[in-house]
Amino acid sequence: MTVHMPETAGFVPADRIATLGVSEILQIGARAAAMKRAGRPTIILGAGEPDFDTPEHVKAGAAQAMAEGRTKYTALDGTPELKAAIAEKFRRENGVDYPVGAITVAAGAKQILFNALMASLNPGDEVILPTPCWTSYFDIVRIAGGVPVAVPCDGAQGFRLSPGDLAAAITPRSRWVILNSPSNPTGAAYAEADYRPLLDVLLAHPRLWLLVDDMYEHITYDGFRFVTPAALEPRLKDRILTVNGVSKAYAMTGWRIGYAGGPEALIRAMAVVQSQSTSCPSSISQAAALAALTGPQELLAERAESFRRRRDLVVAGLNAIAGIECRVPEGAFYTFASCAGLIGAVTPSGRVIDCDRAFCAWLLEEADVAMVPGAAFGLSPYFRISYATSEAELHEALARITRACATLTRPH
Ligand code: PMP
Repeated sequence: MTVHMPETAGFVPADRIATLGVSEILQIGARAAAMKRAGRPTIILGAGEPDFDTPEHVKAGAAQAMAEGRTKYTALDGTPELKAAIAEKFRRENGVDYPVGAITVAAGAKQILFNALMASLNPGDEVILPTPCWTSYFDIVRIAGGVPVAVPCDGAQGFRLSPGDLAAAITPRSRWVILNSPSNPTGAAYAEADYRPLLDVLLAHPRLWLLVDDMYEHITYDGFRFVTPAALEPRLKDRILTVNGVSKAYAMTGWRIGYAGGPEALIRAMAVVQSQSTSCPSSISQAAALAALTGPQELLAERAESFRRRRDLVVAGLNAIAGIECRVPEGAFYTFASCAGLIGAVTPSGRVIDCDRAFCAWLLEEADVAMVPGAAFGLSPYFRISYATSEAELHEALARITRACATLTRPH
């Protein structure tokens, strides 16, 4: 008897991920890193992580946990000590009262988002994403079976969602709107006055929930007053998930600890997702996060001040280039500049810069500067610079961009 086998045993991806691509940010990073390895003086302004080191007292907290044998599985979604410290952080810094049962901890804010969307979306449910936004929102929504609904917010409106645009995007299938302040990739932030009218729209739509991503809370400038919606509108608190983490604030991207506060039924459903994926966050990283949240906090302001100097340098450098326009961001460590004035320009070798992807690809090849095109975040023609690198490197990168742009033949 002959057994018929399939002709090839090649890998076929699941439908769930078939439409997803590898992150464009990571692709550009990989290309730039390869250029660097090949000996080119490439400056990478693509990475979304602070260049500072994790503070010593945080590393000491992890070392102590190891020495004491705290190296086993922990409680499913966070140790009681860490949850208590997070609840205290929300009270102290944000004026929001979350009981310990309303707190969850995961392997990064990214896993928090994943748990939340996996726990709440049914196929076809819509998630409203003001764009430009962090690229992962789109793909995590898709993996969870949802439909991302992009609402473009351009530079003229400060890259902030307007209440009218939010109201217009709501359908019977809308489950969540995700707001991120200060924002990756624009650095734009929502002040209380920006949030209030959006919260009014939410009050009028009781089925819509709000996920706020406060990852860059501690990186704000010029006296900006950071606020989080759960503190502003108690009537909405039972449908707001407040997401935060230690990655950006304490330069702990590799430790993988994020957390959230929210309605307990949602938090419990998120724990179900986590129980069947990672079981718990790393015990040692949780000890490190505990040390970060309960230790000295002065370094947050010092580091924000250092980011402010870099922001000023980059914004001034970019605005000095004809064809590029950059608004002054309120926070995070990104600028999101328009290159509309250079679209249609021709390079010395005759190449036409017809979009922001072409602009960034050309600058990578010609000037050895890696940046991410706005298209990756859902808005063109823009490009994102991450200025979490030394001032010397930023000076050099700006000089190269300026020199390269001076060789372009302008469209107008
Ligand atoms: N939200 C935003 C807006 C981010 O930029 C990032 C990191 N790039 C995250 C969440 C995830 O952070 P982590 O998983 O490191 O906690």
